[in-house]
Amino acid sequence: MCASPASHRRKRMTKAQKADRAADRKAQESGYARGSRSYIMSQIRGKDTSIETLTRSYLFSRGLRFRKNDKRYPGHPDIVLPKYHTIVFINGCFWHMHDCGDCKIPKSNVEFWTTKLMRNKARDEKQHAELESAGWHVIVVWECELKTVEARQRRLPRLYDEIVASAA
Ligand SMILES: [Zn+2]
Repeated sequence: MCASPASHRRKRMTKAQKADRAADRKAQESGYARGSRSYIMSQIRGKDTSIETLTRSYLFSRGLRFRKNDKRYPGHPDIVLPKYHTIVFINGCFWHMHDCGDCKIPKSNVEFWTTKLMRNKARDEKQHAELESAGWHVIVVWECELKTVEARQRRLPRLYDEIVASAA
């Protein structure tokens, strides 16, 4: 039953090659060279990063029910709670230019990044204003507020309270 070291090695190689091919395919789809800064950034932007999942699991465990990444609303909010007329965005500090110090413009292509990030910020403000004028209570949770266990233990219960208070 015991596989010989050679066959074990062969199997691992195949698996690694498979992963390599999959990574190449993924990079190709993204339109950026694999391993390049743009490619890495494009992967960070993905919709289901762990802080979003973490926040949803917490709110769910506290009994709240919601829709996620709802495309009917500007900005495709991460969490929509119709019962509380509340929308929650979970924002990465880099992409949304949080003034916490975690948004450091890359040293190369400064102009490109500044323009891009300023545009993101302006778009966020416009979308939040639209939602608020439509009667939604908009809450932004920042990546830095969820970065450590201690920060999360402060932020998540406060988020719950903010949501529930919206019903009053
Ligand atoms: Zn931040």
